Amino acid sequence: MEVRVEKNPNPKRPPTDEELSNIHFGSVFTNHMLLIDYKKGQGWHDARIVPYGPLSLDPATCALHYGQLIFEGMKAYKTKDGRIVMFRPDQNMARMNNSCERMCIAPIDERETLEAISKLVRVESDWVPASPGTSLYVRPFIVANEAFLGVHPSNSFLFATILSPVGSYFKSGLEPVRIYVENKYVRAVRGGTGFAKCAGNYAASLKSQEEATKAGYSQVLWLDGIERKYIEEVGGMNIFFVIDGEVVTPELNGSILPGVTRKSIIELVKSWGMPISERKISIQELADAYKTGRAREAMCAGTAAVISPIGELKWGDVVMRFNDGKIGPVSQRLYDEITSIQTCAKPDKFGWVYEVK
Ligand SMILES: *Cc1c(COP(=O)(O)O)cnc(C)c1O
Repeated sequence: MEVRVEKNPNPKRPPTDEELSNIHFGSVFTNHMLLIDYKKGQGWHDARIVPYGPLSLDPATCALHYGQLIFEGMKAYKTKDGRIVMFRPDQNMARMNNSCERMCIAPIDERETLEAISKLVRVESDWVPASPGTSLYVRPFIVANEAFLGVHPSNSFLFATILSPVGSYFKSGLEPVRIYVENKYVRAVRGGTGFAKCAGNYAASLKSQEEATKAGYSQVLWLDGIERKYIEEVGGMNIFFVIDGEVVTPELNGSILPGVTRKSIIELVKSWGMPISERKISIQELADAYKTGRAREAMCAGTAAVISPIGELKWGDVVMRFNDGKIGPVSQRLYDEITSIQTCAKPDKFGWVYEVK
């Protein structure tokens, strides 16, 4: 895929490390963005890197009315020796195509699209921060942009990628979060769109998130949408527990988002020779394991925070506090290992690192 580049005539400078530590996640963007068009009969075409700026959309753009819209999230890092690398971006491209399939969006060529994204990251190489915990967040997305008001799949799409430099997710190390179990709203059901990174899933979760914030919690833990019994995941992160010395995470069932961090944790823990299972886990089972002292750690996992330890989990009147509100040993080890592989501070024996050349 040929990608032409139109340089921004008025580029801004990247934030300093000091500035970066004071900006909110995803609120500052680089000087350029990647755009690729799709038309039925013509396929994906006209890949271009252009100055960052507003998109022009017809008011009848179908994504604005019916939400035919998907996205991805990954990170680029600067290594000690000045190279730029990404963590398992092939997994994000494959997941993007799974989301496309579910949402009737034209599939992308995973390899060529990743190369086009790499070219954008290369153009913005000055914006990839180097200090510990920082990275350049990469947000590809696809908008169904045909203009019509009928409910049917669009015949044209816009693929775009924007980049945002981000500081450490937590200001002072890995701060355990407070979470409550959501028992009023549901996020997804089997047969729905839970496994796809589609915009509507997040719009549907805002109400619950707003109520959680008001009550002093940072996130909610979603239960399955049918029996409201089995643990699924947290806002934009998957969940793990350490029970009886075993790492346990809910199995993928169609309503859980298959995280790249989740997959990496499973592979890492297996390589340590530590027991791990992907299975159904009910909130009652967790509460019982907690009460008898067998549930030692709880953590969330996703690209943005990598590992986010859960200090407190509230389920109705049951309050579970893990590891004295401090990060537990398994969570810490996972965080250290994953972040050192991501930044090439440790050898990449799994072949997870992709070099942006
Ligand atoms: C993106 C996301 C995750 C985490 O996926 P990663 O690939 O690890 O970043 C988990 N749950 C939901 C709902 C998500 O949107």
